[in-house]
Amino acid sequence: MKVLVINAGSSSLKYQLMDPETREVLAKGLCERIGIDGRLTHKIPAKDAKYEFEIPMPTHAEAIQSVLDALLSSEHGVIKSASEIDAVGHRVVHGGEKFASSVAIDDAVMAAIEECIPLAPLHNPANITGIKACQQVMPGVPMVAVFDTAFHQTMPAKSYIYALPYEYYEKDKVRRYGFHGTSHRYVSARAAAMLGKPLEELKIITCHLGNGSSIAAVDCGKSVDTTMGFTPLAGLPMGTRSGDLDAGILEYLMNKYGYDMKEMMNILNKKSGVLGISGVSSDFRDIENAAKEGNKQAELALEAFQYGVKKYIGAYAAAMGGVDAIVFTAGVGENDANTRMAAASGLEFMGVKMDAEANNVRGKETVISAPDSKVKVLLIPTDEELMIAMDTAAIVNG
Ligand code: ADP
Repeated sequence: MKVLVINAGSSSLKYQLMDPETREVLAKGLCERIGIDGRLTHKIPAKDAKYEFEIPMPTHAEAIQSVLDALLSSEHGVIKSASEIDAVGHRVVHGGEKFASSVAIDDAVMAAIEECIPLAPLHNPANITGIKACQQVMPGVPMVAVFDTAFHQTMPAKSYIYALPYEYYEKDKVRRYGFHGTSHRYVSARAAAMLGKPLEELKIITCHLGNGSSIAAVDCGKSVDTTMGFTPLAGLPMGTRSGDLDAGILEYLMNKYGYDMKEMMNILNKKSGVLGISGVSSDFRDIENAAKEGNKQAELALEAFQYGVKKYIGAYAAAMGGVDAIVFTAGVGENDANTRMAAASGLEFMGVKMDAEANNVRGKETVISAPDSKVKVLLIPTDEELMIAMDTAAIVNG
């Protein structure tokens, strides 16, 4: 079976054509500058080949058509006929309280995704555009929506409710939703496989640490708490996002500097996090280099981030009444041994003992805790596309 996985943004679109059974990625790539001019980067992993094209993409429909053309091309294609694409799986950021799992897309589902636009005004419209473009270019091909929020719909009310007047939850749906759900679900399932135990018997803390970061408490396979909230601004400090802060700071800074809400939100989303503290970069590699050269703010940014991760690990162990495994994933979690070490050291009191040598590794599934560590610490590269393809195949195959 061949599934095309689509992750549509407002001016870009990532794709992968893969076989969810063999897990082989036949082709993958990226359309950029949609609505401006249009650029396609197309890769064939089996040949280690990369192709770049300038193709006009006034809308997402032309972008999808260019992806299909690339997949079918006699020179750099991987399929002979469009009918070889059995289904399309779409990443959709926000499913609100309507979707607790992936679903086959029909008119009612499209309407429900549209109803979630106020909850994700930047993301859901782009996802919808991507779906409509595929429906236009590939009519009749089954399509499935896989939501970033769905995995966290199992959170109990005490985890997701904000201490605001209850009417804002009832009327306006203001609550914690959580994001990166596809990644947290994938790595928690892989952790169970690595440990050779049923997921339903494990308490796992999954740390998705990338440009955007979130941690989830996964108890018996269900998300019971997570650090991102109503929006992906909450929780840990991130590349450029502030993470949790005292809402009183907004009033203080807005009054003092005359910022309007748009300016304030731009500061919180784009100028804060480790970029804000370090003043150097949002990229952990740059910050680490600066810290090595003696930049104190860079050092502080790393410390604040690592401390944040450690604090949530402790909190979620308490929330679940214990922890069997801690997982690190995403750009920083998979590649940055120092951050993993700093975040998971000093936790011997709760049975976590890191192994410096085992931790000196990048981007492969491996145990990084000491053999006698009661809690297993695991490095697991995330694969959201595979999860989307697997969900799509499962739904299409009934
Ligand atoms: P996104 O949230 O955009 O999907 P990723 O999960 O791809 O982010 O993570 C990207 C981040 O991973 C980069 O900003 C960089 O800080 C970090 N990163 C990648 N490689 C390394 C490395 N070798 N050491 C430290 N950080 C790294």
